[in-house]
Amino acid sequence: MRSLAILGSTGSIGVNTLDVVRAHPERFKVVALTAGKQVEKLAEQCLEFRPSIAVLTKAEDAQLLEKVLAEKNLKLAVLYGESGLLSAVKDSACDTVMAAIVGAAGLLPTLEAAKLGKRVLLANKESLVMSGEIFMNAVQSGGAELLPIDSEHNAIFQCLPPHFSKLIADSKEKQNLGVEEIWLTASGGPFRNTPIEELNRITPDQACAHPNWVMGRKISVDSATMMNKGLEVIEAHWLFALPLQQIRVLIHPQSVVHSMVRYRDGSVIAQLGQPDMRTPIAYGLAWPDRISAGVASLDLMQFSGLHFSEPDLKQFPCLALAFAAAQKGGSAPTALNAANEIAVAAFLEQKIAYLQISQVVEATLNQLENSNPKTIEAVLAVDQEARQIAQQFCKSIVQK
Ligand code: NAD
Ligand code: MG
Repeated sequence: MRSLAILGSTGSIGVNTLDVVRAHPERFKVVALTAGKQVEKLAEQCLEFRPSIAVLTKAEDAQLLEKVLAEKNLKLAVLYGESGLLSAVKDSACDTVMAAIVGAAGLLPTLEAAKLGKRVLLANKESLVMSGEIFMNAVQSGGAELLPIDSEHNAIFQCLPPHFSKLIADSKEKQNLGVEEIWLTASGGPFRNTPIEELNRITPDQACAHPNWVMGRKISVDSATMMNKGLEVIEAHWLFALPLQQIRVLIHPQSVVHSMVRYRDGSVIAQLGQPDMRTPIAYGLAWPDRISAGVASLDLMQFSGLHFSEPDLKQFPCLALAFAAAQKGGSAPTALNAANEIAVAAFLEQKIAYLQISQVVEATLNQLENSNPKTIEAVLAVDQEARQIAQQFCKSIVQK
């Protein structure tokens, strides 16, 4: 029986996780659930799954949740804020943590789970992008089991030899395994073929209408700009301990091949499936077993062809910025992520236009001097500074 803390349980990944858990009560027990602001949805989840801890961002929301649950005779620890999130990981007696908060807000509790040696199911790619080296060191020293939930990384994990990720990049043993490249697939989002001059009129709802996947709004915008794939390249670099030149991005509009590994002997191993996050979630939850995920089997006869092409970096300037930040290393990926979070939020609030997302990120990266943060405090300081700079750029755009 696995005891599960779900960070971000009311979001797209959180809800899909609970859907898999619901079908396997003999395998999983939910011990902690956390959400940002959605009191009602979290209350429903608590009533169904009966965790011992529930967490919301604000104290007043936590009070409200406690009251709602007390009326239904459910007593549990209702906590709030950052300390509440840490408590969900530390004090809930969980052995498995689904890290599914969106953005930098997920970093500290996910890092805590790594330090405490939990099974960490990583959906929150931003935490790894922000603090790659520190995070992976915590996984190693804490003895955590880090399993990727991001569909591409989950696919790669399935296509690599066991323990590949644990070997140091240039070790003889790793070389002998013959991995030449990993190929991350990307759908190209809803605007793959939209003329650049039309992109500035894109509304948030259009950007969030992904052709193949149903996801939260931030990652949906990231998928449209392909910043998401840029973040995923950085994520893959850390997860699999592979140099950037061995990681390639392929546009694959059908989202059937979730990613591939190319080997020295000419073999390419791919993982295929429906674009449904319950598959990678179920894989992470039960690994190394395989359990039913409620996902329909893939019917390849439905497809007249599967297509692959190189991404056009002019169409997707955010992808180019992410590649550049990845190459630069140091604080650049942290700053890229922070500026992107600010720019995407401003776009979703209709304060800046779609094409200005990449402009805000670029301007922030240009302004911020690159450094080499070695502690989590230093990473958080870079994150804050980049956010302030990006906010200023957003403000100057609004005032124009
Ligand atoms: P979402 O917006 O649907 O859900 C986010 C969850 O985090 C919600 O429960 C929300 O209440 C909570 N949250 C938001 N801000 C918070 C804050 N400041 N403090 C505490 N909690 C907060 O997002 P999602 O689509 O489920 O994505 C979650 C993570 O998984 C992201 O990092 C995303 O990149 C990654 N991911 C998602 C998908 C997908 O299919 N949705 C696929 C791959 C990776
Ligand atoms: Mg992905």
